[in-house]
Amino acid sequence: MERESIEMDVVFVGAGPANLSGALHLSRLVSEHNEEVAAGKRQGTALGEVEIAVIEKGASIGAHILSGAVMDPRALSELIPDFVEQGAPLESPVKEDDFLYLTKKRAIKSPVTPPPLKNHGYYIVSLNRLTAWLGEKCEEAGVNIFPEFPGAEMLYDERDCVIGVRTGDKGVDREGRRKSNFEPGVDLLAKVTVLGEGPRGSLVKQLAQRLNLNEGREPQVYSLGLKELWELPDDRYPLGKVTHTLGYPSDAQTYGGGWIYGMQNRVLNIGYVTGLDYRDPLLDPHAEFQRFKEHLHIRRLLEGGKMIRYGAKTIAAGGYYAMPQLYADGVLLVGDCAGFLNSQRLKGIHTAIKSGMLAAEAIFEALVANDFSSQKLQRYEQLVGESWIMPELRRVRNFHAGFKRGRWLGIANAGLQFVTGGRNWGLFDRSSGEPGHLALRKLSDYGYQGDSPEQRYGNLRFDGKVTFNKVTDVYHASVAHNEDQPAHLHVLDTEICSTRCAEEYGNPCQRFCPAAVYEMVDGGDDGKRRLQINFSNCVHCKTCDIMDPYQIINWVTPEGGGGPGYKNM
Ligand SMILES: Cc1cc2nc3c(=O)[nH]c(=O)nc-3n(C[C@H](O)[C@H](O)[C@H](O)COP(=O)(O)OP(=O)(O)OC[C@H]3O[C@@H](n4cnc5c(N)ncnc54)[C@H](O)[C@@H]3O)c2cc1C
Repeated sequence: MERESIEMDVVFVGAGPANLSGALHLSRLVSEHNEEVAAGKRQGTALGEVEIAVIEKGASIGAHILSGAVMDPRALSELIPDFVEQGAPLESPVKEDDFLYLTKKRAIKSPVTPPPLKNHGYYIVSLNRLTAWLGEKCEEAGVNIFPEFPGAEMLYDERDCVIGVRTGDKGVDREGRRKSNFEPGVDLLAKVTVLGEGPRGSLVKQLAQRLNLNEGREPQVYSLGLKELWELPDDRYPLGKVTHTLGYPSDAQTYGGGWIYGMQNRVLNIGYVTGLDYRDPLLDPHAEFQRFKEHLHIRRLLEGGKMIRYGAKTIAAGGYYAMPQLYADGVLLVGDCAGFLNSQRLKGIHTAIKSGMLAAEAIFEALVANDFSSQKLQRYEQLVGESWIMPELRRVRNFHAGFKRGRWLGIANAGLQFVTGGRNWGLFDRSSGEPGHLALRKLSDYGYQGDSPEQRYGNLRFDGKVTFNKVTDVYHASVAHNEDQPAHLHVLDTEICSTRCAEEYGNPCQRFCPAAVYEMVDGGDDGKRRLQINFSNCVHCKTCDIMDPYQIINWVTPEGGGGPGYKNM
């Protein structure tokens, strides 16, 4: 097949805060260099026109971005010192912090907010709006932005150096045949390719396996965040107020917690995080979120309001010990796909922005030296090590792993780490935690008879007012995929689904997916149920790729532009 090749200097894959900050910073470093060389203020030769591209699989910049979000402005103020004056879309400065411990019936307000959850000086933001704004800044600076372009495959030369990325084909039908509108993906060739795909990047997965980037590191572990926006009828929850919760409905063995943020125009931002290292095979993160909303204290906040948006996304929680090697020949990793998130604070925007900026600085030096080898690009890891990122991540290096032995030991560990700056003298695990597919237990280990959800959730009902089923929620994620394309969720052996997985785990994909993508339906061979993949519901959270106990689900990018259409999330 004839494919077009386009030569760029630097290609950033994924238009999240990490890569957009990287692209913007790089374009400025290059312009500054060229101007100073021309004015005789700097030695060396000008770099001339440096072509920088950012590709994004979403239909627009920000469409696939979902976050909390309370943003620590440290990195943004390094990138754009006058971001407030320049009109960054901020919902509100944080005005009040609450921390609640929920039992089944009560909400106990902590007299003090745990220090990692103090948000004074931070901002409540809609990250997808902030990202769209950063995209505009990039375009103003001359960066080429290409939405609807998924990076489908890494390109290597004969020595395994990364030489760019191939974007996905368009116009392929569900059987894999070319349609009349077929357009082959483009080979974007680059001196440096920067992967900023967010958690569980599909290209990062390929790259790390091929180049052994995870060697000697702990496995990455994840959480899943589910979020809704609500329009409230009155001022019952003030703008700028931040509440975090611990306890109900998570059981003591499961990592989880809720958030409630007050946004502009009486919009309430509410969400629930479940650690994707839970053990109970009947656990359903979406049901946990509904339970959370059913709690008397939370229900009171929502009643009479209207749910207007829904979304879900994973969070890379492994931190310091789970970070892969950040560079190789011709390639760098930034943001969540490289594990930069501080899981104790549930904050990764500031570290994503900073990692993008540091990648830009390393690339700039590589451009000046015209050397894009791993030896040269290793400079990025050095810059990260010298920046404020590493002390921040080191201090919380054992946080998530502490919860492996349950909530109370996890809290004790977090407290100890806070006092000792991360040291725990081997009292708790020195690791990132246990990957979800290994943590998940079989139905028989839990004494379950079959896979009926009532065994865990009793009489949980969706009332359509405060609690919703997955299909209703997914409608509010504005998801759209062209249905006549191959499913982008590759299940490598569907026989396992009808046999081993059904018996051992009761097909947990039906529960861990927050968008009702996976369904076991009648009509399989030998009268068994078979797997049906409703891929058009997929919100690109990647939970299935992480949690499938046999690791036979491979999430790949669908046709460009498909996926959620998040607004104000
Ligand atoms: C529920 C939740 C709550 C959170 N709360 C907070 C908070 O309160 N404060 C905070 O600081 N952080 C929070 N975070 C973390 C924060 O959102 C992330 O750390 C941050 O967004 C990481 O930025 P990123 O640029 O690395 O990746 P992302 O923001 O994930 O962006 C990645 C982009 O790359 C695109 N992409 C992926 N793969 C490809 C591909 N192959 N080709 C093309 N495009 C691709 C995606 O569509 C996406 O647009 C939260 C995260 C979640 C999920």
